[in-house]
Amino acid sequence: MQGLAVRLLRCSGLLRRNFPTCLSSWKIPPHVLKSSQSEALVDMTNNELPFAPLQTFTDEQITIKNSVKKFAQEQIAPLVSTMDENSKMEKSIIQGLFQQGLMGIEIDPKYGGTGASFFSSILVIEELAKVDASVALLCDLQNTVINKMIAKHGTEEQKATYLPILASEKIGSFCLSEAGAGSDSFSLKTRADKKGNYYVINGSKMWISSATYAGLFLVMANVDPSAGYKGITCFLVDRDTEGLHVGKTENKLGIRASSTCPLTFEDVKVPETNILGQIGHGYKYAIGALNNGRIGIAAQMLGLAQGCFDYTIPYIKERAQFGKRVFDFQGLQHQVALVATQLEAARLLTYNAARLVEAGRPFIKEASMAKYYASEIAGLTTSKCIEWMGGVGFIKDYPVEKYFRDAKIGAIYEGTSNIQLNTIAKLIDMEY
Ligand SMILES: Cc1cc2nc3c(=O)[nH]c(=O)nc-3n(C[C@H](O)[C@H](O)[C@H](O)COP(=O)(O)OP(=O)(O)OC[C@H]3O[C@@H](n4cnc5c(N)ncnc54)[C@H](O)[C@@H]3O)c2cc1C
Repeated sequence: MQGLAVRLLRCSGLLRRNFPTCLSSWKIPPHVLKSSQSEALVDMTNNELPFAPLQTFTDEQITIKNSVKKFAQEQIAPLVSTMDENSKMEKSIIQGLFQQGLMGIEIDPKYGGTGASFFSSILVIEELAKVDASVALLCDLQNTVINKMIAKHGTEEQKATYLPILASEKIGSFCLSEAGAGSDSFSLKTRADKKGNYYVINGSKMWISSATYAGLFLVMANVDPSAGYKGITCFLVDRDTEGLHVGKTENKLGIRASSTCPLTFEDVKVPETNILGQIGHGYKYAIGALNNGRIGIAAQMLGLAQGCFDYTIPYIKERAQFGKRVFDFQGLQHQVALVATQLEAARLLTYNAARLVEAGRPFIKEASMAKYYASEIAGLTTSKCIEWMGGVGFIKDYPVEKYFRDAKIGAIYEGTSNIQLNTIAKLIDMEY
């Protein structure tokens, strides 16, 4: 009875604090998203700046960034809270991503793609993550992992078959991890046995992102366990293949709208023409894909942290205590300045790693650094934003607590933070 009374009082507004006008609830798209002053930056298309700042974008990149920002604010933001609560991505969002050309950013226009750059993908992921990290992940995996693997290692026939549908309607999932093979992913046990011109896959996978919505699975299975990881081969498996079962979506702390499911393979027959690239090279392709993908995760973490920061600062500039703005307390200002500096550092690491990829230069260490650091900073930023907003930061009516929950995954998938540090240290060892 008392609970009902409280609910009624809440509805009537009597128990509600008078929140500053800058604070929009979930129902209204967050209205302050002015991170990274990219739009104000110089146009470098005239090539007059040989050492252009990292935040210098081409006209194409500025256009793509602005249109994604608009899409995210107008179409994604109003649905974020519901999608989080229901652990379900709205169909309209998935369709919107395809319609906007955001699921085939780097795919060659001859296959129906957008034909933009890897750096553009990174900007898109960052912009999406400012509003919703789950949508950003969907877009990230499709572009930096799935499409890239097929474009790089596929036969002409595979590219002609899969790239147009990946750009226009079909989601792909990357299937490497298993219950016993996480950080040590190449100890995977899923097998593929040759029978005539078919392979028969048996085993199971865990944690497969986007699996509920996916139409295509890139499955790492071992064709010759006696050869160890050198038996790992990548198979293109269509969703409706008999014997492939997608399990129940995991109930997660964060990125709840991204479906994460186990998969089982029971005598799944796949024609040998569906082997991606060469037999036994699956481990190389997976490493290569994850190296690129890590820059995507860095962008996701960066965008998420920036989105949270953008949401919080106007509040602390308006909220007053002790007769002045909360922002005016120097103790708080120093924290804000520190977080802003770390965010900037994460952005520079991420953009630089992406630029290295585009320049065809070594980037593995930088990708790991960007992913590691952006994940750390996302955790720190979102945690601080909750503190700066006080009680308001802690309740689900406003986005900050969700940013905090979503940030945690950055330190886990596509290689945990420890694994990134291992990679960085290994490369330093080789350098000296
Ligand atoms: C939401 C979500 C989505 C995912 N999406 C996908 C996907 O789409 N496709 C896919 O294939 N996988 C996916 N994964 C799996 C993900 O990549 C693994 O969870 C991750 O690699 C860690 O593996 P693990 O969970 O088994 O942890 P473990 O490997 O068991 O690690 C546990 C702890 O031990 C530490 N550790 C392990 N080895 C070392 C070492 N050598 N040195 C120091 N510390 C170490 C780790 O850092 C971690 O802290 C996803 C996972 C999640 C949670």
